Amino acid sequence: MIEQDLLHRFLFEEIGIRGEWVKLTASWQTAKQHQQGSQNVQQQLGQALAAVVMLSATIKFNGSIILQAQGDGDFKTLVAQSTHNRKIRGLIRSNDHMPMGSLEAMFGLGQLVLTIVADNAQPYQGIVPLQGKNLAVALQTYFEQSEQLKTRLWLFANDTHAAGLLLQELPAPQNRNKADWERIEILADTLTERELLELDCENLLYRLFNEEKVRLFDAEPVKFQCACSRPRIERTLRAMGREELEGILQEQGTIQVGCEFCSEQYLFDRIDVETILSQESVANQSKTQH
Ligand SMILES: [Zn+2]
Repeated sequence: MIEQDLLHRFLFEEIGIRGEWVKLTASWQTAKQHQQGSQNVQQQLGQALAAVVMLSATIKFNGSIILQAQGDGDFKTLVAQSTHNRKIRGLIRSNDHMPMGSLEAMFGLGQLVLTIVADNAQPYQGIVPLQGKNLAVALQTYFEQSEQLKTRLWLFANDTHAAGLLLQELPAPQNRNKADWERIEILADTLTERELLELDCENLLYRLFNEEKVRLFDAEPVKFQCACSRPRIERTLRAMGREELEGILQEQGTIQVGCEFCSEQYLFDRIDVETILSQESVANQSKTQH
């Protein structure tokens, strides 16, 4: 059976190196379907989605990880998000004519921001410059700075698949040996785009590391699922205030809000808006009472 929409973790137990492999198929195609952009721009989104799924595997709480790349070049915005249980979504904004090439060629001067959002805690944010030949390189820089653990990433995407491979030193194993990391890295560097996009995890690990001892863990499913909802949009509208909402109603008769991640359309008429605004005064009252 061909593996798709799955994340596998694996471990070189004896030499203190962990790894992850991800392959997105239906989830990638669905995420892409809601986005406009050239093939190159879309492939960046595929790579970013593969990356956030692998990064989400290190989250040990309910929440999500968001990768955001933003610059002043032709590629304006790239957002990819994965929840702790691997529900993914993403969006892209770019000019029609997009140069291929390094991150600087696409994004201009920009930043790569990684945000970890826990359901019950302050978000954590890490920022690195958008520099290097691709997203994998920029993320390696992020890991060098934030975790100070040797990390390597390979990310590829085409029309049908998005895939990723990650290798990382475990924090301070007793018997860390520099030569082990170097050997694994040299073996992994022989990986081709085609192999990562086409092989399943077990075959890929065999192809790269057949003389190493690797423990492969059970696959975890990945799905496209947007977190948008009518209550969330209502909260946003409430925050805009009566005056602005009245203005839109007068001009357009209804308020229509589209989700940029999944294209879902939410429609609010005058009665809906009154209901939303009356909930605000209830919320305020209960705040003052307690
Ligand atoms: Zn949505």
